[in-house]
Amino acid sequence: MISENFTVEIDGDGIATITWDMPGRSMNVFTEAVMDEFDVLLDALVADAAVTGAIVSSGKPGSFTGGADLKMLLRLFADFSETKDADREAAIARLFAKSGRMSWLWRKVETCGKPFVAAINGTCMGGGFELALACHGRVAARGAAMGLPEVKVGLFPGAGGTQRVPRMTDTQSALQMLLKGTTLTAEKAEAMKLVDLVVEPDALLLEAKAMLKAGLSPVRPWDEKGFRLPSGPVYSAGGAQVWPAVASLYRKETRDNYPGARAIVKCVYEGLLLPIDAALRIEQRYFTQVLQTTEAAMMVRSLFVSAQALAKGARRPAGVPDTRLKTVGIVGAGFMGAGIAYAAAMAGLDVVLIDRDQTAADKGKAHSKTLAADLVAKGKMSEEKAEVLLSRITATPDYEALRGAGLVIEAVFEDRDVKAAVTAKVASVLPETAIYASNTSTIPITSLAETFADPARFIGIHFFSPVEKMPLTEIILGEKTGEQAPARAMDFVRAIRKTPIVVNDSRGFFANRCVLRYMNEAFDMVVDGVPPAMIENAAKFAGMPVGPLALTDETAVDLAHRIMKATMRDLGEDAVDPRHFRLVETLVNEGRHGRKAGKGFYDYPEKPAKKHLWPGLKAMYPQKTPDEVPFEELKQRFLVTMALEAARTMEEGVVTDPREADVGSIFGFGFAPFTGGTISYIDGMGAKAFVDLCDRLADRHGDRFRPTPLLREMAERGETFYGRFLPVDRKGEAA
Ligand code: NAD
Repeated sequence: MISENFTVEIDGDGIATITWDMPGRSMNVFTEAVMDEFDVLLDALVADAAVTGAIVSSGKPGSFTGGADLKMLLRLFADFSETKDADREAAIARLFAKSGRMSWLWRKVETCGKPFVAAINGTCMGGGFELALACHGRVAARGAAMGLPEVKVGLFPGAGGTQRVPRMTDTQSALQMLLKGTTLTAEKAEAMKLVDLVVEPDALLLEAKAMLKAGLSPVRPWDEKGFRLPSGPVYSAGGAQVWPAVASLYRKETRDNYPGARAIVKCVYEGLLLPIDAALRIEQRYFTQVLQTTEAAMMVRSLFVSAQALAKGARRPAGVPDTRLKTVGIVGAGFMGAGIAYAAAMAGLDVVLIDRDQTAADKGKAHSKTLAADLVAKGKMSEEKAEVLLSRITATPDYEALRGAGLVIEAVFEDRDVKAAVTAKVASVLPETAIYASNTSTIPITSLAETFADPARFIGIHFFSPVEKMPLTEIILGEKTGEQAPARAMDFVRAIRKTPIVVNDSRGFFANRCVLRYMNEAFDMVVDGVPPAMIENAAKFAGMPVGPLALTDETAVDLAHRIMKATMRDLGEDAVDPRHFRLVETLVNEGRHGRKAGKGFYDYPEKPAKKHLWPGLKAMYPQKTPDEVPFEELKQRFLVTMALEAARTMEEGVVTDPREADVGSIFGFGFAPFTGGTISYIDGMGAKAFVDLCDRLADRHGDRFRPTPLLREMAERGETFYGRFLPVDRKGEAA
């Protein structure tokens, strides 16, 4: 038996091995065609009396499947939004039928009467793992990774995941895994009873066959009489312990902002009260509902489609061939330089790490040693790998070592003169084909490029701290930056597995501009007497990962002070609210420089005690009572001020592609992910509603909330940012 995507071989024992290997793709994904073929194949195997059982396996080395095809999901969204106005009921019914296809098909496997074993040879995510869960047995290769990550893109596992996982493992572990979208190692999945056996990769098919030959039952436990749930019934003593805790955990983790997460809790709770077929229908109803939410549409677009497109280099100049960097030079082995060196060495690049003297350079390299030792201690890296990693980094004060570098990144002090001196030294040894990048956070790239003989090869690559954790980089184009430089910069960023956004040169680039607005809004609330705990909580309820005062502490209060002074120097005294300046200056004068000083807006007592807001802050301003402060409005102020700043960057042409503002805002500063990012937040509610909201806030809190002319125009015309700014040739990628 052979079809486009599957081959089937039947051995002498009647065991059919189905191998899924999609031609021309590096990874298997579920498309409509794949499901059609699988359906036909399933019927044929069931009808063939000679077939006693089947193994579902993948022909792709090290990977089973990445899950559902993006385009299939996007078609679902598009079809629904195009047809819903004409006949909503019919559109929902079609959505239910189409999105449920996978769920029904896996149930068909489960009840086909012949035993199926999933042979999980590697990465097995989403719908693929749900297929495996519907099989009668599961064997996984050591090293395979599996999970149901749908919640991370605003959805949830809607092909049986929410029903089979809590029928196979205890409710608490099931909910944790589903709500977090955790990726499991094969061993962890085995411990959770989600796979039956973990074996060495080359024994995978043999063991799968052995499982079938041993007489695997083609009936799942929940289809037998007397089935007992692993944690017992929902209405039982055990259930009474689990469920109240679930409700509070859910609220704490999600603040009830994510319809996908909410649906998981409901599906598990309601589904466990019912037989599997009814439970699967309930799951499908919730799935159909979640697909209709703005959150799901926006999150799928930004976190799935756009993030992938950008990571693959959607904004890379098309005509420039790919470069394979071998050696990268980094000058300035301080906080940032050391982090960039580690990220590059982890990606297998040779790194030349330069500082003023050997001691300073060594100190930068020592950072990698600490991080690697940490991984070794946690069992996540072998000692040999850690040694190889360190051997890739050459720490030296000698610029001659840069002669072989294809890219040099400067990360010295934020001082124009120091940077100019370093640039001249690098230029004297740099090959003519190499690219030079600055990691400056505030100095315009165009002006720094003036100190370099060939400004076409000069570019900004702005990293975020801590470099080893933050997934975003901003690539900043100077006025004279050519095409080679962004291409090389993106190849580097891709190699170290970060996502680049391309930004035109301007003060603060993109992310920092928005983040400063976030902090300023909090300062405004503080000086207005809003209780600081309310400020921090409002931000978290709005969906931000870190409160604005805690964030100011992390990035340093004295840095905020320096930025305010520089802004006043460059743009005039009026550019900074004097009340904000006094607040920050008072903290700095009292040595409250933030987390690094052990005190800032928070106090940081010795562990295990937890940080807490500095009581002195309340004493500085007459405090309002919580009743005097509309909490919802605090939340809106945070999101609106950042979204408005993002809109300004687009209006000014600093950011040219709305996908970059969206992905950049979530990856760069954690902008409420359920919105899909700063721009999708606006598009999601519509320009008109956003403009009205801005005007309301401006009337109450000041003109910083006044909508820009562009927003007013878009509101009048009913336009969206994606409709207006995404070039037609990119629309297919972003729907
Ligand atoms: P840092 O003070 O930790 O490190 C700077 C390093 O540069 C030091 O090790 C110093 O010895 C070295 N240096 C100074 N003069 C030198 C010279 N003439 N030759 C060689 N080395 C020299 O500073 P940092 O926080 O790593 O910042 C570095 C750059 O990165 C700055 O431009 C900063 O604006 C930018 N940046 C910082 C952050 C952040 O969060 N800290 C984020 C993004 C970008």
